[in-house]
Amino acid sequence: MKKFKIQICLLGYQRYLDKIEKLQNYSSKLFEVTNCIVIKQLPPCDLEWGYSDNCINQLLTSSNIDNSNVDLCLCFIDNPIEYNYFTRDLSEFDSKTVLCSFYQVETIFDEQNIDIFNYIHGIILNEIVQIATLHKVNEDYFLHDDTRNCLFDMCGLKKDIAIKYGVPSLCPSCIAKIESTAVDKEFVPLLNKEFKSFKKALFYRIIDFVKERPILSIIITFISTIIINILSSFLYELLNFIL
Ligand SMILES: [Zn+2]
Repeated sequence: MKKFKIQICLLGYQRYLDKIEKLQNYSSKLFEVTNCIVIKQLPPCDLEWGYSDNCINQLLTSSNIDNSNVDLCLCFIDNPIEYNYFTRDLSEFDSKTVLCSFYQVETIFDEQNIDIFNYIHGIILNEIVQIATLHKVNEDYFLHDDTRNCLFDMCGLKKDIAIKYGVPSLCPSCIAKIESTAVDKEFVPLLNKEFKSFKKALFYRIIDFVKERPILSIIITFISTIIINILSSFLYELLNFIL
């Protein structure tokens, strides 16, 4: 199966350049980042401290952004965007450009100890599904209002983005929609494989375990302490016997 080619476009000041760099070096069987464009200076905000689709469309047009050699173009910005969404399809610009905002994501992800890279990676998989099935970005085709821990949860409650991209999956109705198109048979299994790479670092998984099962954690700690005590006494006796 061919890899989807992605162009990254960084708009204005970027706090997560290390994550973008990680993405550029990321090895995936589904996609590859072929180019990264930087537009350092942004026009004045036209939606309080944020930007409308129209304003970003004009910026991309005046910057001569060319997507002819890629399947998808993702533009990352720190400011809020129209309707305070996480992503906006810029269909007025072309059928493969998406504006992605980091606004409020860090706060939500920090609370759940989720790496911000999950957000970037998750958006890419979300958009790739649209390109693979519809040959254009049109998230509305897949989105559902309720939260199902699915790549196409609407996240009307913004904090649900941590569920959507914590360790994402596909709900049965989204899988059915994908499989009803002429998409490659390898596509869904490869997506599921990518989802497995989203797990948290071991340290944070231990913290989550303790938070979710405090009594069991105390019991495990208690039993572990007894076992360590028995083992250390045994070792002490053994050393005494040998020496
Ligand atoms: Zn779904």
